[in-house]
Amino acid sequence: MKSNKIALITGSSRGIGAETAKLFAENGYAVCINYVSNDAAAEKVKNEILLNGANCICVKADVSIASDVIRLFETVDRELGSISVLVNNAAILKIQSRMEDISEERFSEVLQKNVISCFLCCKEAVKRMSTKHGGTGGAIVNVSSGAAKSGSPNEYIDYAASKGAVDTLTRGLALEVAAEGIRVNAVRPGMIHTEMHASGGEPNRVDRLKAKIPLQRGGEAKEVAEAILWLATEKSSYVTGSFIDSTGGL
Ligand code: NAP
Repeated sequence: MKSNKIALITGSSRGIGAETAKLFAENGYAVCINYVSNDAAAEKVKNEILLNGANCICVKADVSIASDVIRLFETVDRELGSISVLVNNAAILKIQSRMEDISEERFSEVLQKNVISCFLCCKEAVKRMSTKHGGTGGAIVNVSSGAAKSGSPNEYIDYAASKGAVDTLTRGLALEVAAEGIRVNAVRPGMIHTEMHASGGEPNRVDRLKAKIPLQRGGEAKEVAEAILWLATEKSSYVTGSFIDSTGGL
């Protein structure tokens, strides 16, 4: 059955994206799970959502590649209907390094996967949501990072810079489409218990650093998902171009 609450969450086979997909489904959304390689993880999230009675599809697509993004959005149009929420959550993180050890290729890849992906998906969403293009409006929530403000020295300046770009894109797009029925906001998670830290070469990074977090613990993916949901729904109807720091006070 087609619903008018339709959410596409990029990178939702694991971590924050998976919890967000499940939370949106619990709140009456038909959900598109997107992922790039982990079929088993995506199927697991999909089956959990279907078992709970919500509508859900899985689309494998690399959101940093324009042709994949077009196929992703066309699949949502065809199988779920007109998108009302886009959550740009997919991103990558590379091994902790000082800047002089980061190659130009790595820096470019991080920007492609974390920023160009967000740009490509926002573009397709605006074409569908904007009243200027015959749409009925919608909400875009970008998943940035506390790294956009800290800069991640000695760890991953490339990743931090990519999230700084996501913040600027969020602000600019919010103002550009504010009069066209679209709100654009972002959540900046801090240290959250997900598998992403293993990609940075330190699976237990959150536990090592938790004493430095004012709330004295790492965050759970579900806690970030709650902030994303709030920014996507009418409960935040007078909020655009804004940021929620879900960082435990950091
Ligand atoms: P994660 O556990 O590593 O999961 C990443 C997800 O993104 C997976 O579902 C992965 O799919 C997907 N993905 C990666 N590249 C993709 C691409 N090119 N196209 C489509 N899907 C792609 O990550 P996470 O920790 O949940 O992070 C989610 C978001 O929160 C990211 O934007 C991250 O930067 C941000 N964040 C996280 C933390 C943290 O502490 N965890 C802190 C600040 C910000 P596969 O399963 O197929 O690989």
